[in-house]
Amino acid sequence: MKLLSDFDGVWTHPREESRTQGDLVDAQLVEWSPPELQAEAKAWIADARRRVLAQPDLYGWAPGGRLSCFADEDPFAEHSALLHYIHLHAGIDRIATALHEAVLEPGHESLEAFGGAAHAEAVARVEKSRGPGVLATAADAGRRMLSGGIEIVVVSNSGREKLDRWFAHAQLPHVVHPESVPGSLRLRGGARKFVLDPAHSAIESFGSLSVETARPYYDGILREEMPDAVVGDVFSLDLSLPLVLKRTDPAWRNVRLFWLVHDYTPARVREQLAAHAPEVEPISDGLTGVARELIG
Ligand SMILES: [Mg+2]
Repeated sequence: MKLLSDFDGVWTHPREESRTQGDLVDAQLVEWSPPELQAEAKAWIADARRRVLAQPDLYGWAPGGRLSCFADEDPFAEHSALLHYIHLHAGIDRIATALHEAVLEPGHESLEAFGGAAHAEAVARVEKSRGPGVLATAADAGRRMLSGGIEIVVVSNSGREKLDRWFAHAQLPHVVHPESVPGSLRLRGGARKFVLDPAHSAIESFGSLSVETARPYYDGILREEMPDAVVGDVFSLDLSLPLVLKRTDPAWRNVRLFWLVHDYTPARVREQLAAHAPEVEPISDGLTGVARELIG
């Protein structure tokens, strides 16, 4: 039995990192905008944040301008969606134009690059003050699954060094892919699940949700690993492509898809998946619930 697992939101709850990232993004956007616009920019950003959450199908994590995950799918996506909103309104809206220029000025090559830098800085700050954030319940469930003979490969957009430090802190045995040791997690960081194929689109609809599933890096890893189960907290990033494979490739027919639902999981996504993707199994108690499903 091989479980392919996401990291953030599966082994952690990202509230602290996300709050810090949001504060950092907003503060830097205001600080870098022209002094005469700063008060207006602050109010504009608060309004833009409300707008992206009101229209999560339009805004989200959108590397290169295409939506890879919706604004409301996890606490990080909201910050990416704010930058996506600025990107779409720059050149049209006076404040959006000023904020876009303000981000490029200190040397960020794009809003996306700025978002990535803010994320890394936020995670570093939280790690410094609180320490790494692998949840005790997740670590326990992980240990139980490993000792129960389940192979676990952690496939995450987060970098390998972070995964290494955080699992070490939680005293979970782990090795870095391609090394493989029975009883140890195998880490595949920098997985780029969010990257969409520049030459190809494959939008799949699940009720009112339309999700881009042309994710070449994730596709390569999924086909290479051939897991028996996949677990993630963000449907678009973690589970939409495995679901397509399960529906179209006989080799994937019996693969189980566990979706960890949290306090941030959008009700609208829950409703649409319950109605239109019953293969996705919602789990409300984190990896503990996944361990229960897999080993009892
Ligand atoms: Mg995640």
